[in-house]
Amino acid sequence: MLSNKTTLMQRKVMFILLDGLGDRPCRELNGLTPLQKADIPSFDFLATNGMIGRHYPLGPGIPPGSDTAQLSMLGYDIRTEYPGRGYFEALGWGVKIEKGEVLFRVNFATVERDGSNLIVKDRRAGRISGKDAESVASAVAEMDLMNGEIKAVLEHTLEHRGILILKGSDLVPDVTDVDPHEVGYPVLEPQPLTSSPKAKKTALALKEFVLKSYEILKDLGVNVERKKSGLLPANIVLPRGAASKLHIPSFMKKWGFKSAAIAVGPLYKGIAKSVGMKLLEVEGATGLPNSNFKGKIEKGLSALESGFDFVFVHIKGTDVASHMKNPELKVKVLERIDDALESLLDLSADYLLLLTGDHTTPCSLGKHSGDPVPLMISGKGIPKDDAGRFDELRCIRGGIGTVLGKDLMRLVLNYSNRASEHGLRPKPVEIPYIPKPDQLTPLSLNQW
Ligand code: ZN
Ligand code: ZN
Repeated sequence: MLSNKTTLMQRKVMFILLDGLGDRPCRELNGLTPLQKADIPSFDFLATNGMIGRHYPLGPGIPPGSDTAQLSMLGYDIRTEYPGRGYFEALGWGVKIEKGEVLFRVNFATVERDGSNLIVKDRRAGRISGKDAESVASAVAEMDLMNGEIKAVLEHTLEHRGILILKGSDLVPDVTDVDPHEVGYPVLEPQPLTSSPKAKKTALALKEFVLKSYEILKDLGVNVERKKSGLLPANIVLPRGAASKLHIPSFMKKWGFKSAAIAVGPLYKGIAKSVGMKLLEVEGATGLPNSNFKGKIEKGLSALESGFDFVFVHIKGTDVASHMKNPELKVKVLERIDDALESLLDLSADYLLLLTGDHTTPCSLGKHSGDPVPLMISGKGIPKDDAGRFDELRCIRGGIGTVLGKDLMRLVLNYSNRASEHGLRPKPVEIPYIPKPDQLTPLSLNQW
């Protein structure tokens, strides 16, 4: 039992985010979605003992990136509190970020020359990994750009992924992506997003980096060997998600929760770290369909017992199966997660469960879509809507209805009995969370 004598009525919160959870009917599953097809009694039990519904992470019809969706779902305003994807990736990988640097998420990719264009054949260079990926990374680890005025540093992270850091004066993250995000399209020339000379300079430096990366990598030994063995060469670096350091208010300041997070990928770790969540490690957690889901959820429960009052558990396997366009695998991943959810079936437990995804990733598309995402809020004392089942179709008729991602934290505050009545303070609409007395500075008589 989780309780605390100063906040007896206030619930702790377990937030399980299944990346890319929602889906559309799949031909391979006879017109069912993976959630509909899967045998998931634990999901169904939890949904039946709570309320279900759907949310649009950013808005109806907008396909979200995981970073913008998750930041918004944690109650942050992505118009003013979103630093760019590269920042989260770098932070999650433990890169020391200096003010004035511009950061990008990069992929090692495969391109083919077509006249003066470079056409993207594979955005992940056949998911290059191990020694091959290391050889590619070390060939482009450091570069001087713009006659030595700017330095480019590339940090390899996992498999085909890395982080590019541009260092020098007058750099800004106001540039477009080089990565076209789709196979069969040419690599794009980075464009300044504003008319400022700094944005122009950054775009030129980025362009030089990408062209140099192609020059260095196209005939690199490891790529020649890969081609001989029928593997795709990693012959270019494709940056995207320009970012720079940005101070984001902590989750404690924003919502009053002492929070922890369990995640594997640098992006997800970076999101959690940027809002001050404590990162917890779980053995066997891989960020893939084979991850230790049970270990992650058990770790989440023990974190709630050991003083944290909000735990964010990120599970990536669902999204991975969707990107692979493999609905059968997504069904298996959901069934393995269902086994792991068994440790949450104790109805006397005194915490609130929020379970949802950050976007829909239909297996039929292999990429994120703007569809709504199934959602449940479950736990002791939560109004029930007699769901019976947790899937896309049933969630349409759920008691929560269809809300926006940015509204989720308000629902969490309400059902964890932490919401304060509006109108008690000046300008209540501008104060999303009103701190509790024990989180505020007491008036000191010493100042008299
Ligand atoms: Zn995602
Ligand atoms: Zn995805």
